[in-house]
Amino acid sequence: MAKLLVATHNKGKVIEFAEMLQDMEIEWLSLDDLGVTEDVEETGHTFRENSVLKAQAYAAISGLLTLADDSGLEVDALNGAPGVYTARYGGEGLTDVQRYEKLLDDIKDVPEPQRTARFRCVIVLAAPDGTLLGESDGVCEGRIAQAPVGDNGFGYDPVFYLPAFGQTMAQLSASQKHQISHRGRALQAIAPRLRAVLQDQSG
Ligand code: IMP
Repeated sequence: MAKLLVATHNKGKVIEFAEMLQDMEIEWLSLDDLGVTEDVEETGHTFRENSVLKAQAYAAISGLLTLADDSGLEVDALNGAPGVYTARYGGEGLTDVQRYEKLLDDIKDVPEPQRTARFRCVIVLAAPDGTLLGESDGVCEGRIAQAPVGDNGFGYDPVFYLPAFGQTMAQLSASQKHQISHRGRALQAIAPRLRAVLQDQSG
C-alpha cells in the first residue's frame, strides 16, 4: 500500500482526509507517525505559498509523497483579512473563542448584507525531490454571524453562518461539514491527481 504523508501534527486532520478518500489504497501518515519534529515556518503571503513550503519541506525530510494544506478565513468587510493570518488573528496565545470574539468585535458595526466571508483551503501534493505534482483550491462561502451558535467543529465554525443550511458550520455534523467545507472540496478536487500519481508509482 502506498504511503502518503499529510504535513500536519494534527492526527484529526489525517483521519478526516483518510475518511474523505476512503476508497483509495493509502497508508495515511502524520508528521507524528514519522517522528518528524521540525517545524516549517509558514512565511508565505498566500495559502498556496504556505502549502508549497510545507509540502516540499516535509516531503524532503520524510522521503515520502506529501500532501500539505493551508487554510483560513477571508472576511470581505476586512478586505479579505485575516486570510493567511487566520490562525494568529488577534495575536499569540489566544483561544479559538477569543479569536472569533475579536472578529465579531472588529465587524460589530457591519450590517448583515456586508458580512460575507469565505473559508479557503489550498492543498499541494509534492514528491520527495520537490516536484509539485498537483494542487487544488476549495472555497466555502458564508457570512459572519452576529453571535456564536453550535458546539461542533473548531476554530471559527460557531460564527460562520451558512445561508443554504440556515445554520452555522458548528451546527453541522462532521459528514455534512466534509461535503461542503473548503478542505473537503479541495481534497475532492485533488483526488483524481493523487490517484493518477499513485497509479504511476505502482506501475
Ligand atoms: P490551518 O491551515 O489548518 O492551520 O488553519 C488555519 C486557521 O484557519 C485555523 O487555526 C482555524 O482558526 C481556521 N480554520 C481553518 N479551517 C477551519 C474550519 O474548517 N473551521 C473553522 N476554522 C478553520
